[in-house]
Order: sequence, then structure tokens, then C-alpha cells
Amino acid sequence: MTTRKPGGRTRPRHRRVFRLTSRVFWDMAIYMVGLGLGVGVIFPPFAVLMGVPDTIADRPVFRSACLVAGFLVGAMNYALCRGVVGGRMEVLGGHLRSATSVITSASRSGDWSEAVFERIAVDSNDQIGEAGRAFNSLLGAVEGRKELEDQLRYQAFHDMLTGLPNRAFFMEQLAAAECVRQESRTPSAVLFLDVDNLKAVNDNLGHEGGDTLIKLLCDRLLSSVRDTDTVARLSGDEFAILLTGPGSEHQAERVAHRVIDSLRAPTRIGEHLVRTGFSIGLATSSACAASGIGMLRAADMAMYAAKAGGKGRLEVFQPSHHTAHLERDAVRAELSGALDADQLELHYQPIVDVSSLQIVGFEALLRWRHPERGVVSPLEFIPLAEETGLIVPIGRWVVQEATRQAAAWQNRSPLGRLRMSVNVSVRQFQHPDLVRDVAEALHRSDLNPSLLTLEITESLFAQDIEETTRKIGQLKDLGVRLALDDFGTGYSSLSYLRRFPIDTLKIDKSFIDGVTTSPEDHAVVAAITQLGQTLRMEVIAEGLECSDQVDALRFLDCPLGQGYHFSRPLTPGDAVKLMLTGGRASTGMLVPA
Ligand code: C2E
Ligand code: MG
Ligand code: MG
Repeated sequence: MTTRKPGGRTRPRHRRVFRLTSRVFWDMAIYMVGLGLGVGVIFPPFAVLMGVPDTIADRPVFRSACLVAGFLVGAMNYALCRGVVGGRMEVLGGHLRSATSVITSASRSGDWSEAVFERIAVDSNDQIGEAGRAFNSLLGAVEGRKELEDQLRYQAFHDMLTGLPNRAFFMEQLAAAECVRQESRTPSAVLFLDVDNLKAVNDNLGHEGGDTLIKLLCDRLLSSVRDTDTVARLSGDEFAILLTGPGSEHQAERVAHRVIDSLRAPTRIGEHLVRTGFSIGLATSSACAASGIGMLRAADMAMYAAKAGGKGRLEVFQPSHHTAHLERDAVRAELSGALDADQLELHYQPIVDVSSLQIVGFEALLRWRHPERGVVSPLEFIPLAEETGLIVPIGRWVVQEATRQAAAWQNRSPLGRLRMSVNVSVRQFQHPDLVRDVAEALHRSDLNPSLLTLEITESLFAQDIEETTRKIGQLKDLGVRLALDDFGTGYSSLSYLRRFPIDTLKIDKSFIDGVTTSPEDHAVVAAITQLGQTLRMEVIAEGLECSDQVDALRFLDCPLGQGYHFSRPLTPGDAVKLMLTGGRASTGMLVPA
């Protein structure tokens, strides 16, 4: 074995050991020879002075005896010093040896958590004391490093907000569970949990509110599992639980239901009551082994199905979830080509004056005419388009096409000018090109800007409010109108309604559904209609499906409505036919989509 000197030369390690040993040997030899010679040479003349006769002092035997006595005293002296000093050196050496072995094994394994160092109690100021102090301060530095490494290790494997293990830790546990399953057929189960509505809570109560909610949810999760189960936070709103051992599959279902039940009642955050829940996917090792798919991925897919099926529920992984996942991936890939392949089209749903039943305008609703799947609903592909950013070019096309169509249809309505509403999603609104795109579409189509309404949602007010204000101002400068779509489902405060130049409130269908049956819904619809009148905003009731609802809205003085009762969204051709009949939507005039 060799050690490398800074200069680059290597020298054998045993030479150093030898030099240390020989140094001790030479120290002793020089000391003894020095003392022996000193005593042997100096003592005989002293002996004469002290009265020993010359005849004896000059005899070689006497001189030799002095020399031997000098050597012996030197040797005893040396042995005494070694005994006293060597004991202390032994203490120092012992500590050094144990510290060295701890440091060596910790650096080999990379795990410093078990490394424990003992300091030396130093109570002398000599060289050994100084060496002891230097040793202690070296240990201090090593311990500092150990703490830092512990901290880094903790950070690498834990979520800082909740202190729960993170994705990396969970994946290690999962891999270990998989090994155990393969070796001893011990089953395991994974729950993938996604918080419903966290974004809304963040939007409305700020990130502090969201963080408080996450911590509360974390407490509830921990109280729903056994100590042996692993609960991890995988990302912002995603958690996972790993259960191992016999019965873990049934146990996992019980845990999932306990978690869901624990969130039935609203959670209090400061002064607010927040309604939230977990959508949970469960995957068991046996199902995953049979399908050849990773447990976490399978649980994630099942969670997606739980969310699609109405949130706040448990879904157990089935192979069909995998198929659905692959289909979604395929749809995502196909959607990017849909615009170029001319597969997107707009359908138009009339907006009707509920008193005169005259059509006053249309809402443009996007459809994807898929070559194999037929007409695909925007509810299916708009979220994917938002995820991928495709909503920006698609939305640009929608604005262009709708303004072109509106310009072409002008004066088809008996009332004269026809309005056109276009939906704008949050991501599309936030894109820097939006204002320019709208201006260009208006310019190209030559449509009067006041006939174009952009439908935005309340969630926009939860974004960067200054940027939203600036953009709304720019759009208003173009002369377009703004409507708040699905009004009542978000959390927008009344101050936003006053602050922003909103022209229209569209009452969400969920309130209209109960307007004739639920006193609460009736009261909400009445209040929104009143609010619209007070703030001088137009009000449109969405999702009118029967004449009783139309009567109720007429009674409440809600001026405009939209819904299947009047007409489903129509192809441009059918919309023209409808307008040619006089633009009067009546109960007997339902046109198939
Ligand atoms: P939305 O803007 O609230 O549009 C109203 C939705 O309610 C439409 O669904 C419409 O067909 C449906 N609807 C209208 N009357 C009734 C009724 O009486 N009963 C029932 N059950 N439903 C009714 P659609 O066309 O499936 O659109 C769904 C959502 O997709 C829209 O909700 C809108 O948020 C979004 N969307 C549609 N087109 C676009 C678009 O071009 N861009 C963006 N960003 N989003 C769009
Ligand atoms: Mg809309
Ligand atoms: Mg709506």
C-alpha cells in the first residue's frame, strides 16, 4: 500500500512506521549514553573532591562502575518518564483509534447517523494536553460535518413542510417491499391520495392557507394508519401510503375509508371553513404483479379514475385503468395535430331573452371531430389542452373562428345585432399574446368589438391580481365585453365584482337545476339576479332544461337564459336554420346536437 505526498512522489507506508519506532529507540539510546557518559566522566573528579582517595577514583573499575551506574539511572529515568507520560499517551491513542475506526466505517457506509465520538477530558497545559485539545477540536469539526450530512440526508428524504418522508424515501420503501414480496410472498398495498380542491384553497386563502390545510391533512393521515405503515408526501397535493404484511390489502381499504370519512366535515382554517377531500387510488401487489405494472403507477391511475368519477372517493386498480391511461396519452398526442388536421369545430348555443324568447346571441363551444371516436366533448380534451399549453393556439383559433362567424351572421337576428361569446381559460388568459390575438381577430373579421364577449371564470381573480387587472383593462380598451362564467361556484369576493369592469354574470347550472325545487338554490339565483341589477350587470341563467325553470327565472326578473330547453349547441348550419325561422327559440324547437 502506498501514500501519495503532495509533491506527487510516493513512499512506502512501512518506512514511516519504522521511522516512528526508531525515533523512540534513538531517543532512549541518546538519553542513556548521554547520562551514562556524564556520570562516568564527571563523577570520578567529584569523588576526589568529596574525599574518595585518588587510588580508588582513578581505578578503571571505579570509573566503569560510575559509567554503568549512569546508564542504569538513565534507563530508570527513561522508564519512569515513559510510564508516566506513556499512560497519558495511551489515553490519547485509545481515543484516536476509536475515532478513526468510527470515521472510517461511517465514510465507507455513507451513514453517519450512528457515529458517536467521545471527547478527551483535558486538564493539563503541556504538549499532551495541547494534543488532546487539538484532537477534541478535530472531533468538533467531524461532528459538524456529521450534523450537516444528517441534515442533508433528512432533507433529501423528507418533505420540509410536513416532515413526512418524500417520494425518494417512499420509492426506496417500495423497492424493499417488492423484494420481500418476491422472496417470501408477503403482500403489500399502496394508496395514492390526491387532495381535491387544494388549488382553490391556495387561490382563495393564499399559500399559507394551503400549507395549513396540508399540515392538517397530514395529521389526519397519520392518525388513520398504523405505526408500521409508511405515509409520504409525493408532491404538492399528492400523498401515498404503503402497507405491508399479511392482510395489508383489506387494511388499505379500511385506511382509505377512514381517511375519506375523516374529511366529510369541513376543515377550519383560521376563520374559514374549507370543504376538501382525498381522491384515492389503491393498488395491491397481487393485482400489480398480474398486470406487470408498478404499484405506485397503478395506484396513481386508479386515483385518476377516482377523480374522474366524482372526487372524494376510493377506486381500486383494475387493468381497465391502465387502458384508460394509455388512451389519455394517445389523446394528448393526437390533440396536438387536431388543429392542423381541421378536426376542431365550433358549435353555437343560443342565448335567449327569457321574456320575448328572441335569440340575442350565441356561445361558441368547441368540439373535436375525432376520425375514430366521433365528436369529443371539450370537458374531455380542454383540461389536456391546458396541461400541455395547446390551449393557447387552440384558443387563438376559437377567437378567430367565432368572430369570423359572428361577423358573417350579423343582422340575422330579428333584434338586429347578434352577440358572440367565447370561453377563455385561465392559461390562455395569462398568455402574453391574448390581447394581440383578440385585437387581430376583431380586425380581420371587422366585427364590432362590443358584440364579442369573453367568458372568464372567477378562478382568474386568484391569480396574479395586478396582471389580471392590467389585462382586463387592455381588453376593455379594445371594446369587448367580459362575462363571469359559472358564477357562484368559485370564491370571488364582491369586491372583485366592483373592482373589475365585468358586464355579465352567468349563473352556474348547478343553481338553476334546483331553482324550482330547492328554496336555497332559488334564493341564490334571486340574490345573483338582484346583484346583477344593483351592479348594472347583465345576468344569464345557464343550463335551463325545462319550462318551469324558465318561468321561475322570468318571475325573478332574470333577463337572459341559455340551455337545452331552448336549444342544444348547434352546428353553424343548424344555427342559421334556427335564425331563419325568426330567431325565436320556443319549447317545441329543440334542435338535436
Ligand atoms: P361553459 O362555458 O359553462 O358552457 C356551457 C356548457 O353547458 C356547454 O357544455 C353546454 O353544452 C352545456 N349546456 C348548456 N345548456 C345545458 C343544459 O341545459 N343542460 C346541460 N346538461 N348542459 C348544458 P360543453 O359544450 O360540453 O362545454 C363544457 C365546457 O367546456 C364549457 O362550459 C367551457 O368551460 C369549456 N369550453 C367549451 N368550449 C371552449 C373553448 O372554446 N375554450 C375554452 N377555454 N373552454 C371551452
Ligand atoms: Mg361558457
Ligand atoms: Mg358555464
